Amino acid sequence: MQREAKIKAIDEWLPQTQCTQCSYPRCHDYAVAIADNEADINQCPPGGDVTIRGLASLLGKIGKPLNTVFGIHKPKQVAVIDESVCIGCVMCIKACPTDAIVGAAKVMHTVIERDCTGCELCIEPCPVDCIDMVDQPQASDISWRWDDYSPEATQRARAQTSAKLEREDKRQQAKSSAKKLKELRKEKGSEQIKLDIAAAIERVKNRSK
Ligand code: SF4
Ligand code: SF4
Ligand code: SF4
Repeated sequence: MQREAKIKAIDEWLPQTQCTQCSYPRCHDYAVAIADNEADINQCPPGGDVTIRGLASLLGKIGKPLNTVFGIHKPKQVAVIDESVCIGCVMCIKACPTDAIVGAAKVMHTVIERDCTGCELCIEPCPVDCIDMVDQPQASDISWRWDDYSPEATQRARAQTSAKLEREDKRQQAKSSAKKLKELRKEKGSEQIKLDIAAAIERVKNRSK
């Protein structure tokens, strides 16, 4: 199997909570590490035995128990915010990998239950300890490889995480361009930069004649 196809097939066996328990920053990074033989197949507590069996069969490996150094398998929970205590600091929004929390600065926040993977990454940054994990009401229509994670939910979590990472990349790039421009302004002065840009535009125009 080609490396990219292998990574994709491995990623399909990860429940996409993006919880980091496997010691990788997101499910896809763990999939890459398994494909490159840098990580074992039993490091995903949310995926548990289902994931291990799936990966063992996919990769022609022998199944083994979950390595509990990375955590224990437990039923999926979802986050709930006590809105009467929330101070609107947005720390949880920054931590949430799937954009499952809505709110704005100094406004109470709330969790969109459908988008919450139960990763628990919002718990620790909350300065007023107003986020609790509660049992997920069992969805009766889940009859897939896992009891707790439906195909739709894993797909959505994968897509939302990618979208968030892309947004963050763009923000970082914009930040670094703004920083470079600031440094350039300091070094050359704004007038010289304008002259340099005008000269560059002129060069491009002449080239296309
Ligand atoms: S669900 Fe958590 S532990 Fe499993 S692969 Fe994804 S990030 Fe890693
Ligand atoms: S709301 Fe909290 S528990 Fe739910 S996905 Fe976001 S960070 Fe994870
Ligand atoms: S981190 Fe806690 S206090 Fe801050 S916005 Fe989120 S829920 Fe509210």
